[in-house]
Amino acid sequence: MNNTPNPSSILSKTDMRSLNHFINGAFHPAKSGKTFENINPATGECIAHVALGDKQDIDLAVEAAQKAFKTGPWPKMAITERCHLLKKVGDLILERLDDLALAETLDTGKPIVESREGDIPRSAQNFHFFADYASSQGEESFTLNQNERHFTVREPLGVVGLITPWNLPLYLATWKIAPCLAMGNTCILKPAEWTPTTATILGEVFQEAGIPPGVFNIVHGFGQHGAGELLTTHPDVRAISFTGETTTGKAIMSSAAQTLKKLSFELGGKGANIIFEDADLEEALPTAIRAAYRNQGEICLAGSRLLVEHSIYNDVLDRLLPEIQAIRVGNPQDLNTQMGAIISPEQLAKVQSYITLGAQEGNVLCGGERLKDFPDGNFLTPALIADVPPDSRIATEEIFGPVLTVTPFKSEEEAISIANNTPYGLSTSIWSQDVNRCHRVSSQIQAGIIWVNCWFSRDLRTPFGGQKSSGIGREGGRYSLEFFSELKTICYRYGEHT
Ligand code: NAD
Repeated sequence: MNNTPNPSSILSKTDMRSLNHFINGAFHPAKSGKTFENINPATGECIAHVALGDKQDIDLAVEAAQKAFKTGPWPKMAITERCHLLKKVGDLILERLDDLALAETLDTGKPIVESREGDIPRSAQNFHFFADYASSQGEESFTLNQNERHFTVREPLGVVGLITPWNLPLYLATWKIAPCLAMGNTCILKPAEWTPTTATILGEVFQEAGIPPGVFNIVHGFGQHGAGELLTTHPDVRAISFTGETTTGKAIMSSAAQTLKKLSFELGGKGANIIFEDADLEEALPTAIRAAYRNQGEICLAGSRLLVEHSIYNDVLDRLLPEIQAIRVGNPQDLNTQMGAIISPEQLAKVQSYITLGAQEGNVLCGGERLKDFPDGNFLTPALIADVPPDSRIATEEIFGPVLTVTPFKSEEEAISIANNTPYGLSTSIWSQDVNRCHRVSSQIQAGIIWVNCWFSRDLRTPFGGQKSSGIGREGGRYSLEFFSELKTICYRYGEHT
């Protein structure tokens, strides 16, 4: 690639070619001195050496977070003051939009437009939203009789572990950090090993915002047998909020059981996008394309299964195919690029194997080709696979890449049955102009979020999470505040006793 990104161009106070843990308000290399490589998925080049966290680093981070919780000002501060500082974090993220967007694109391979207009502004919004929301919430009070009143208080949990994936790195980390800290907890973030840079810059932002040391800590490293797993077994970590694969969620549930931690899981998805014959196709089809290929299809909420009513099936395929073939795949730093690189050679191989399977289970109409101009990047053209049987593996397993399967249906009942025919239950879109039908169908779909005539729209006050194998619990709005706190009831008896 000619205009290969230069990581040192990131305007950071620390050298972003060497990424360290952030513990007790300062950056530290791993105690062991060990590092691992951060690879740019678009070029295959090593862009940074990252501190490899092990037990010593996790112990230090937990100790710092524990001290900040027990003896520091953070949990005792007025919530308005805490939230004022968190808003400052949001402001500083926006001030550093350019370097954060470039870092996110270098780490993930996603188009720079998505980083600049999506991920990073939304990360700032997480701090602004939760700061406003948390500081405006009240607590409950129940009057039993004139002499007795019961009321509830929300108290912080203590030290919380936050474990996040690589697909929306800063956005998903801040989605947890903001409400966790707003409630007075202290935390340790374990970012995905593939995408350590924006989290590290966030450490600098926390320093600049004047957040007390130890409130927010970062330990880099791997999951299984590494920093992630160590966080889930540490006795002083009270809760784990995890976003990632369903299989990882199962492993965390098991490893966290010995210390009985509170758990919140946002896991995998296999979203259906159901198009009925009365749908507004001018809206539905461009949205279906975005839902399948945005962020290279590496979105848990992706509409990766298109279910189309039989009567319009061929027409829909004819209209989709040229649009999908026209998607511009290439250099993630080019402002015209619509699809960038897949995160890793392993993920690329996984996606390719599903497309090979797709040729047996359905008809591959386009896609799955590597880009000759970028031999060292993990690029793949977007794949469209038609006539996919609802029970097939490509229709039921999460691929997490630029692959859209298409399946026809003949009735409302059949559409509902196919949509529900996966272990997942995260999101579904329904396209129809018949409001009664939309209501009937949405009430029978097993998913945490249902979009009617839209996709990806979010109001941060609403609960977010999955049914079945897509998660446990809900985050967002008051649901995040509930997870990141402990409820206590206090009963007061006063006045004349009867
Ligand atoms: P992953 O589960 O492989 O890794 C996620 C994080 O968990 C990483 O930080 C990793 O190091 C850590 N980890 C791995 N094994 C661990 C273990 N045994 N103990 C503790 N930590 C461990 O997921 P990924 O590949 O990074 O992300 C893709 C997955 O995330 C997809 O399945 C996608 O659907 C899901 N996801 C879900 C949501 C949602 O909101 N439901 C959002 C984004 C991504």
